[in-house]
Amino acid sequence: MSELSRPLLVLDLDETLWYGVEPADGEVVRVRLRPGLGQFLEEVAQDYDLAVWTAASGDWMRGGLAVLHAETGFDLADRAVFLWDRDRCSWRRGEDGDLSWRKPARKFRAGWLRALYPRGRILAVDDVPGNYVCGYGHLVRVTPWTGDASDTELRYLAAYLRSIATVQDFRTLEKRGWRSRLQLSGS
Ligand SMILES: [Mg+2]
Repeated sequence: MSELSRPLLVLDLDETLWYGVEPADGEVVRVRLRPGLGQFLEEVAQDYDLAVWTAASGDWMRGGLAVLHAETGFDLADRAVFLWDRDRCSWRRGEDGDLSWRKPARKFRAGWLRALYPRGRILAVDDVPGNYVCGYGHLVRVTPWTGDASDTELRYLAAYLRSIATVQDFRTLEKRGWRSRLQLSGS
């Protein structure tokens, strides 16, 4: 059997890993980190390379990543294969007629990226499925987080992601409802 390359996990930020709150005077960015975030990153980094794709601005992304580093010791900004912000998103009108940011999965076909990670080995974690409307095959949807201190999503997500890390083509997996299946299987 040929050896599988390490997979790539592309992480959304707002409402997926953290929640932005009003900055105090003199601050540019203030975020609350989702419960278990530091441990989640340490765990998934054992099986996945990591990247960031946010529809927020680059300043917001870097500010939040600095908070993440300070509070958890995990330097995602340094370890990420890429840090993509709003400049890598498209502003598109959806079926409902509303405009919103999209993350066009065709950007995963970039030559340098494809040389490292076949598209079947790229997963994207996001709380807004519409962001990946053209790339559902990559998407693992999480519940949006806005501050609930009892939230356990990341603990389950780490277990789920590690359980599928050796799948040859993630796009062939049914990933909707991942958490209920994980609970039912007792993992
Ligand atoms: Mg989000």
